Amino acid sequence: MVVDERIVTFIHSLETPENMILEEIEQEAIDAHVPIIRKETQSFLKVVLMMKQPSQILEIGTAIGFSAILMSEYMPEDGRITTIEKYEKRIPTARENFRRAGKEGQITLIEGDALEVMGALEGTYDFIFMDAAKGQYIHYLPDVLRLLSDGGVLMSDNVLQDGDVIESRFAVERRNRTIHSRMREYLYELKHHRQLITSILPLGDGIALSVKRER
Ligand code: SAH
Ligand code: MG
Repeated sequence: MVVDERIVTFIHSLETPENMILEEIEQEAIDAHVPIIRKETQSFLKVVLMMKQPSQILEIGTAIGFSAILMSEYMPEDGRITTIEKYEKRIPTARENFRRAGKEGQITLIEGDALEVMGALEGTYDFIFMDAAKGQYIHYLPDVLRLLSDGGVLMSDNVLQDGDVIESRFAVERRNRTIHSRMREYLYELKHHRQLITSILPLGDGIALSVKRER
């Protein structure tokens, strides 16, 4: 936990429910141990969407579709979401959830590895939600920058890795070291790239919010 547990509990106590279908899907995800966006991160995502009003959204990491359906509730009416997932077990569930929520017209799921799928995407997106394998974010960045419109917003989830990111490389379990150094590199890039203005927030599992400027 990045933030004091009592503060998180307090913030959660103020949250209000989403519509029934979203509440059901969230519970099903939790029951099946699918790692979906946390409550406090959901609220932040909603606020950013309401401010940005994006018409083209790209999500990297669909899981079973919870965050895509949530975003569809807070985007403009003509908004469209493209979401990428590679895990075969989750794809049929995600499709079924989009159907249950009546969102098949607004949400397009593309199956495959995010790097390959993004490489073939054209056009621009005014909001990108990065929520896939943490160790890959740094590899996705060139495509993300190509696909993000000027003034576009990139929101990256799970960037503080439950606090691990601040530990010395040697304090991190060996199997987590690659992710640890790649996430540090990713955050460094987000903060130093000349086209990105980034704020790193200790919210949920850590969020980075970036805006792309023209040059
Ligand atoms: N955004 C979802 C949660 C996503 S969990 C929500 O909040 O509801 C992260 C997902 O990214 C997992 O389902 C995982 O299978 C997927 N993923 C991981 N690496 C990927 C890759 N290289 N390409 C596509 N999807 C990937
Ligand atoms: Mg996440």
